[in-house]
Amino acid sequence: MGEKIVVKVGTSTLTYENGRLNFRRMENLCKVLCDLQNRGNKLLLVSSGAIAVGMGKLALPERPVETKQLQALAAVGQCELMFMYDKFFGEYNHTVAQILLTKHVVETEPKQNNVINTVETLLNMNILPIVNENDTVAIDEMPGENFGDNDMLSAMVAEMIHADRLIILSDIDGLYDKNPRQYSDARLITNISRIDESVFKMAADGAGSKRGTGGMKTKLSAAQYVTQSGITCSIINGKRPENLYDIIDNKCIGTTFTASGK
Ligand code: GLU
Repeated sequence: MGEKIVVKVGTSTLTYENGRLNFRRMENLCKVLCDLQNRGNKLLLVSSGAIAVGMGKLALPERPVETKQLQALAAVGQCELMFMYDKFFGEYNHTVAQILLTKHVVETEPKQNNVINTVETLLNMNILPIVNENDTVAIDEMPGENFGDNDMLSAMVAEMIHADRLIILSDIDGLYDKNPRQYSDARLITNISRIDESVFKMAADGAGSKRGTGGMKTKLSAAQYVTQSGITCSIINGKRPENLYDIIDNKCIGTTFTASGK
């Protein structure tokens, strides 16, 4: 039986600077995910991109700051995003399903159980659930009310469905000992067994791109969360979706955080 894997893909991997979808990369990612399903893996994809794709679709020159505008854009972009996923997966005769979550749902037991039951049913039918935060109802201004970024959402989902692995696709190769965008001698760290303050210090500050939220620190928090639950986490470059084969075959790419107790 193949592993149960949560893959997280961010806005900067899926879209161009103008918010339009990078079809070549998205199509390639969908093909690799279909192939991994054919190999016997059970996959769940956590996908960002709704807000950026909404911006691209409405040709907005920059990201608005007002919450209600962001929520409106997410409502537009989520449709487009799922439409394209449905189309690309459909080309390989695979089926996807949309699941939009809020922190409240994930943290409230009866609701959480409904989500788990739905996901398990979909996985048993070989359907790939695509999860995003339900941005139109998650209220940004209230601390603790939303995930804020999909890195932590992917970690909580991985824990909830007892995944074997979480793979976070990033726009860089993994965790470097210092910011590789500033220092040419930055070194990629391939394996980490304990995520402590010294590891967080290595993470470059802030969001990795103008379009997404997140950044390396939120990825480390996600890795810390899942590894404590016995789930292995890897951060790899999403520009080449075939990297997923390598990491699942335990080849040494990206940064892998060993699960506690493994
Ligand atoms: N849920 C947001 C979106 O789909 C993205 C959050 C994130 O960038 O992590 O646009």
